[in-house]
Amino acid sequence: MLLRMSTLLLRTLREDPADAEVPSHRLLLRAGYVRRAASGGFTWLPLGKLVLDRVTEIVRQEMVAIGDQEVHFPALLPAEPYRTSGRWAEYGDDIFTLADRRGAEHLLAPTHEEMAALLVKDLFTSYRDFPVTLFQVQTKFRDEARPRAGVLRGREFLMKDAYSFDLDETGLRAAYDRHRVAYRRVFDRLGLAYTIVAATSGAMGGSASEEFLAATEVGEDTFVGCTACAYAANTEAVVTRAPAPGDPAAQPPAEVHDTPQTPTIAALVALANARRLAGRDDWSAADTLKNVVLTVRRPGVDAAELLVVGVPGDREVDLKRIGAALHPASVAVFEGWDEQPDLVRGYLGPQILGALGIRYLVDPRVAPGTAWLTGANEPGRHAVHVVSGRDFHPEGTVEAAEVRPGDPCPACPTGELTMRRGIEVGHIFQLGRRFTDAFALDVLGPAGTPVRPTMGCYGIGVSRAVAAIAEQHHDERGLVWPAAVAPCDVHLVAAGKGPQLDAALDLGGRLAAAGLRVLVDDRTHVSAGVKFTDAELVGIPRTVVVGRRLADGYVEVRERATGERVEVPLDGLVPRMV
Ligand code: ATP
Ligand code: MG
Ligand code: MG
Ligand code: MG
Repeated sequence: MLLRMSTLLLRTLREDPADAEVPSHRLLLRAGYVRRAASGGFTWLPLGKLVLDRVTEIVRQEMVAIGDQEVHFPALLPAEPYRTSGRWAEYGDDIFTLADRRGAEHLLAPTHEEMAALLVKDLFTSYRDFPVTLFQVQTKFRDEARPRAGVLRGREFLMKDAYSFDLDETGLRAAYDRHRVAYRRVFDRLGLAYTIVAATSGAMGGSASEEFLAATEVGEDTFVGCTACAYAANTEAVVTRAPAPGDPAAQPPAEVHDTPQTPTIAALVALANARRLAGRDDWSAADTLKNVVLTVRRPGVDAAELLVVGVPGDREVDLKRIGAALHPASVAVFEGWDEQPDLVRGYLGPQILGALGIRYLVDPRVAPGTAWLTGANEPGRHAVHVVSGRDFHPEGTVEAAEVRPGDPCPACPTGELTMRRGIEVGHIFQLGRRFTDAFALDVLGPAGTPVRPTMGCYGIGVSRAVAAIAEQHHDERGLVWPAAVAPCDVHLVAAGKGPQLDAALDLGGRLAAAGLRVLVDDRTHVSAGVKFTDAELVGIPRTVVVGRRLADGYVEVRERATGERVEVPLDGLVPRMV
C-alpha cells in the first residue's frame, strides 16, 4: 500500500481545536484522523480508517481464534423484542427510537442480546447444536447524556459484541474465561496498558462481570486496586465486606443510623425524613428501574420511611452500594412491576442479595407482571424494601457508601485500596438466562426434555480503543502509534524536490512491493520542516528522510518512539524495513 501525501485527504492543524479537552481528541483531530460531523458523531478520515480497520482486524482474529462465528445484525430494529426483554424501558432515553412510515416503533440498537437470542431460537433446536458463540463488529447507537472526548464517548460508535450460548453454568463459565483470555490477547496486541476490574453489569442484568480499563487520567471510570492482593474493582462495584456469622459486628444494630456499617442508611433516612417533612409523597408513580425507591422499615417504626435513590442510567451503582451498606441480618424485599419482573428476578436478587450472601426466594404471591424477592435471613430486625420508581427525583439522588483510597481491601486482611482512573475498553458478562427466558429459547435436551441455554455477552469498544491507544501513546509533538495499529509502517519524507522526490517515490514503491504500508510525503509546496513536524504529529513508527545525503547514497531512518536516528545506505533500506 502506498499513500501519497500530495493527494491524501488530510489537513493537519497547527493549533489545538478549542473544543477538544483530552489529548487523544486533540491529537486525532490535529493529525487528521477524524473530523467531528455531529454531536457524538465522527467521520474517520483515511488515516483514521486505517487504524480503525487494524484494530478491528486484531479483535476479529482473536474472536475467530476462540471459535466465535461472525454475523452481522441490522442496527435498525423493531421495538418489540426490546419490549419483551424489558430493555426498551430500561434503556429509556439512552436509546434512539424512531417510527417507520406506518408508525411502527423502532430503535437503533445499543447492543444485540435480543437479536442473538432470537437468531439462535430461530435456527437451533437440539442440545447437540451447543455451545455456540456469535459475534459482530457493528455501529452502535446510544443517546449518551454527555457525548465527550471525541470518539471516546460517541453517540454512534463501533463495537465488537459477542454472545455465547451454553447449556449449563460450567459451559457459560468456560465461554466467559475463553473471552477473558482472548480479550487479554487483544489488548496486549493493541499496546494498551489495562487492568481487569470487577464491574457492575449495567443495563445487561446478569451476574459475574468484569471490565477492561485502560489506565489514563482522562478516563471516566474510577477503579480501586489493592496494595497487597490482586483485587481490583470499578468503584461502582466495590462491595464492602459483610461480617462473618458469629463476628460481633454481625449482630444487628440497635439503631440503624448509629451503626458504622450503615452510613448510607443513615444518610438515606435523613433524606427520607426531609422529604416527609416537606410533604413530598409523590414517589410512587413508577416508571423504569432507572430510579429506585428504597423504603426502610425499622422496628417500632410504623410508617415506612420513603427514600428515593436514583442516578439516570446508573441505578446499579446505588443499588450495589446500598446493598453493600445493608446489615447482613436485614430482611430485604425487592419489588418491581410493569414489564420488569425479569429484571427484579434476574438482577436485583443475584446482584444485591447475592452479593451480600443473603439467601432469597421469589415470593409466589406475585401479581401478574410483578416480582418480589424476599431476603430470608433473620427476619424482624429491620426491613428494606426496594421498589422500582416511575419518576426521577433529582432531589433524591444520594451518593452512597463512597469508596476512598485507604479503605481496607474487601478481598484480603491486610491490603488497602488505592484509586486510579481508566477508560472502559471492554466488558464481559455472564448474563445467565435473562434473554433466553424472555424469548422462551428452549432446545431439546439429551433426556428428551427441554433445556434453556444460558448466555454470556462480551463487548469491546473498537472505536473507543483507537482513542484509548492514542491516549496512552503520544508525546508533546504528536501521536506515537504502536506498530501493530499504525496507519502505515513507514513515513517517507522527500526533504527536497527533484532527485530527492524521485528517489522517495521510487523507495516508496519498493517498500510497498515488499509488503509494507507506506506514506510518502511528496508535497512540493511545503518545506522540509513542515513535513518533519507533520510526520511527528501523524505518529507513524518510522520516518525515512530522503534528503541531502541522498547524493552520497544514504537516507536517514528516524524512530518515532525513541527519537533515535540512523543513516542507512539506500540499497540496505528495504531489507532493513521489512
Ligand atoms: P460506559 O460505562 O463507558 O458508558 P458501557 O458500560 O455503557 O460504557 P457497554 O454496554 O459495556 O458500555 O458496551 C461495551 C463497550 O462498548 C464498552 O466497554 C465500551 O468500550 C464501548 N462503549 C460503550 N459506550 C460507548 C460510547 N458511547 N462510545 C464509544 N464506545 C462505547
Ligand atoms: Mg454507558
Ligand atoms: Mg460502563
Ligand atoms: Mg460496560
